[in-house]
Amino acid sequence: MQTRTIDGNAIARELRAGILTRAATLTAGGVQPGLAVIRVGSHPASSVYVRNKIAACGEAGIHSRDIHLSETADEAALLDQIRALNDDASIHGILVQLPLPRGFSPERVLEAVSPLKDVDGFHPMNAGLLAVGHPRFVPCTPLGIMKLLEHEGVNPEGRHAVVVGRSNIVGKPIALLLLQKGATVTICNSRTPDLRSITRQAEILVVAAGKPKLITGAMLSPGAIVIDVGINRLADGKLAGDVDFSSVLGTAARVTPVPGGVGPMTIAMLLENTVASAERALASGRTRT
Ligand code: NAD
Repeated sequence: MQTRTIDGNAIARELRAGILTRAATLTAGGVQPGLAVIRVGSHPASSVYVRNKIAACGEAGIHSRDIHLSETADEAALLDQIRALNDDASIHGILVQLPLPRGFSPERVLEAVSPLKDVDGFHPMNAGLLAVGHPRFVPCTPLGIMKLLEHEGVNPEGRHAVVVGRSNIVGKPIALLLLQKGATVTICNSRTPDLRSITRQAEILVVAAGKPKLITGAMLSPGAIVIDVGINRLADGKLAGDVDFSSVLGTAARVTPVPGGVGPMTIAMLLENTVASAERALASGRTRT
């Protein structure tokens, strides 16, 4: 079987063009979408991620605020900052870059973000809305995966989808989204015995385990659609997914590469959530303080 590589960069580029148009319409109507990104301390990977997010906002016509609290800032200072942004009508999305330094409670911090500006979709209220089938903000990576599938013309209805990983940011929400689209979903985790016997049943396989080369061609059924969420830094400095890319060629029908698959979609969905938030604010009159 000829395996097709899904080009996440190209799909994200296409979606970002549409987001730019929507942002321009909002701006012309007096409401430029705005995203605030807050980070605390100097986690090296975080500064790269934040830089990329801020640059992507600029390209999409979204104004952004890069708020950097020092290593010595405490949780109270961060919560004050979040509350000020909750009340700021020019900001439609608030993102707290994780991980937070030791001593901070990520739960308390994420719950302090207004659920109406929670563009990461991590607030328990937004997680609950997704679980009951009325999503407002959906976490960016699972949302990006659904857009990839849609773009590829893959309808999950009636198909067996297997999700490897059960985190709150990827595994659980993607399982719920696939379920809502009518897939039969199996969720695996690190305690799942005989993973291969389950992945071999997958017509759609989403892997978000953080384990390089966890999935090989021998673990797939022929014709599976494989979405590799993993981002792992190998000893030689190269990036690798959770799927052994070369070994699935010839067995999978389609596969996302790492890099260039799910990653670019995640950033595009952050822009999508910010613009959608500004559109909702405009529609509900929440545009002035
Ligand atoms: P996590 O560590 O929170 O969760 C990993 C999950 O995988 C856990 O539920 C664990 O039980 C499961 N798991 C681990 N080993 C397993 C095994 N051998 N068999 C079955 N299940 C196993 O990680 P996360 O935050 O969900 O991220 C997962 C991966 O996706 C990481 O590599 C992360 O860097 C990457 N990621 C990528 C993007 C993106 O934009 N592409 C976004 C978020 C996360």
